[in-house]
Amino acid sequence: MDNIVLDVSDVHKSFGGLKALNNINLQVEEGKIHAIIGPNGAGKSTLLNTIIGRLVPDTGSVIFNGRSITGMQPHEINQAGVVRVFQTPEIFPDLTLLQNVMIPAFASKEGPVKFNFFRSLFGEKDVREQAEEVMLDLGLHDQMNRPASDLSRGDKRRLEMAMSLVQNPKLLLLDEPTAGMSRADTNRTIEILQRIKARGKTKVIIEHDMHVVFSLADHISVLAQGAIICSGPPHEVKGNPVVQEAYLGG
Ligand code: ADP
Ligand code: MG
Repeated sequence: MDNIVLDVSDVHKSFGGLKALNNINLQVEEGKIHAIIGPNGAGKSTLLNTIIGRLVPDTGSVIFNGRSITGMQPHEINQAGVVRVFQTPEIFPDLTLLQNVMIPAFASKEGPVKFNFFRSLFGEKDVREQAEEVMLDLGLHDQMNRPASDLSRGDKRRLEMAMSLVQNPKLLLLDEPTAGMSRADTNRTIEILQRIKARGKTKVIIEHDMHVVFSLADHISVLAQGAIICSGPPHEVKGNPVVQEAYLGG
């Protein structure tokens, strides 16, 4: 298949004597939402960190858009179009929402544009418009001139999402995007992800909440003790007896 955006092959990662990832093989198709589920300690975050370059696999490879990113620095992988939404919001509390969203928009651009960073942060149209568009999309537009520290917890998570989306990622990775959210905020997040999915952006979501997983995923991989025990479309995974036993609670 040539529409594979992310291809993880034979990846192993140990921490001392602990095999956190044991021969992971995973292909993510363009435009799809691929969910990774599994119990605590299964290796989900470790897998994500090997994709974004925070960890280097002991063996195996990670191919993104046909190019090996194995062993590349996190900022190089980010520059290539892989963006992660963090579990804990990493925002600038004293800056306005608009400024918060404009910073990653600039950072994701290459070359001399960065030299104009400060002038442009408060002036340039192009990046500003991009930032405003994303905020409108996420329902943050009417708060864009407020300092980020004013935001509610749910809105902070949405600001983080805006800061990721403005980089126009080819591959967006979300580690438990709805963890700790109210049901209302969770549903709002599902709705946002469904909308951005419609634009053909590829996403990998790590999620505990089965409502979120089954509302969004095109493909689910189940991780247990560092290995993928089942991978397929949601209806197959749901019906798999091994998954039922290991994860969904029988
Ligand atoms: P999950 O995200 O599925 O809950 P993790 O990937 O965080 O699981 O962890 C997988 C296993 O690897 C766990 O047993 C965890 O304790 C261990 N682990 C994760 N990161 C490290 C690390 N930096 N050093 C040592 N052990 C780690
Ligand atoms: Mg984790």
